[in-house]
Amino acid sequence: MIILKLGGSVLTKKDSHNAEVNYKNLNRIANEIHNFFLAKGSNSDIANELIIVHGAGSFGHPPAQKYQIGKSFKREEYPEKRIGFSETQNSVKRLNSIICECLLSKKIPCVSIQPSSFITTDNKRINSFNLDLIAKYLDEGFVPVIYGDVVLDAQLKIAVLSGDQILQYIAKNLKSRKINEIILGTDVDGVFTKNPKKHNDAKLIRRVSSLEDIEVLESTTNIDVTGGMIGKIKELLKLANLGIESRIINANKEGLIANALLNKKVECSLITKNK
Ligand code: ADP
Repeated sequence: MIILKLGGSVLTKKDSHNAEVNYKNLNRIANEIHNFFLAKGSNSDIANELIIVHGAGSFGHPPAQKYQIGKSFKREEYPEKRIGFSETQNSVKRLNSIICECLLSKKIPCVSIQPSSFITTDNKRINSFNLDLIAKYLDEGFVPVIYGDVVLDAQLKIAVLSGDQILQYIAKNLKSRKINEIILGTDVDGVFTKNPKKHNDAKLIRRVSSLEDIEVLESTTNIDVTGGMIGKIKELLKLANLGIESRIINANKEGLIANALLNKKVECSLITKNK
C-alpha cells in the first residue's frame, strides 16, 4: 500500500489569506495519479493500494489562526471559538470536495473521509481513530481521501489535527496492510539544513534521521498552525523509529509524484532510522 500526502502548500496558495486552490497543480497531480493507475493496468485492483492525505493550506490555516484554535481559552469565549471551529471545518471540507471532484474527473474512485466526524484528540494527539472503515474502503478498491481538519479535544475542547499526524497514525496503526511507500509532496525539494525559502545557502539533506540534522529549526510561514516542515519531520521520525521510511519530494515539479508512486528514484529527503 502507498500513502500519498499532498501538502496544502502545493494544492492551495498557502501564503494567501483567502482560500484559493492552485488548480494548475491540482489538475496536474490528479493526472499523475491517473497515469499511475494506467501504468499499473486499469483493470487491476491496484486502487486498493492508495490512501491520499491532504493538507489544508489557505483553506485551514487562516481561520484556525484567526480563532486561535488549539489554544486554551476562557469559558465565555466558547461561543466565538465554536464559530471558528465551524468555519474552519466548513472551509477544509470545501477544499476536500474540490480535490475529490478533480480526482473523480480522472476516474479515480476516491472516497472522502472527514476527520472531524469521527476522530478526537487529547492535547492535540489522536486518542480515538477507528481505522476499520478505511480498511473496508480499501478492501472494496476505493481510494480514501482524508485531510487536515479541526477535531474535538479532551483537554482543549477543540484542536487542529494536521494531515501529517493523520498520515503517521494510519501508517503506524493500519495493521492489515503492508506499507510499501510513504510519499509526502511539498513545495520544496525535501528537508534542508535551513528553510530554503529564507536562506540561499540551505543544503538538501538526503537522509534525515534526527531533528539535529537540521541546523536552523524555524516555522514555515506566519500562518502555519501545524508546525510546518518541523512538525512534519517529527511525525515522520516516529515512523522511522518503527522502521517505516518516508520520502519528502517536491510536488511542484512535474512528474515527481508519478515517478515516486511507481517507486522510481526521485530527488528527495528520505526520513529513516539509519544514517
Ligand atoms: P505542506 O503544506 O506542503 O505540508 P509546509 O508548508 O507545512 O508544507 O512545509 C513546507 C515548508 O517548510 C517549505 O515551504 C519551507 O519554506 C519550510 N521549511 C522550513 N524549514 C525547512 C527546512 N529545514 N527544510 C525544508 N523546508 C523548510
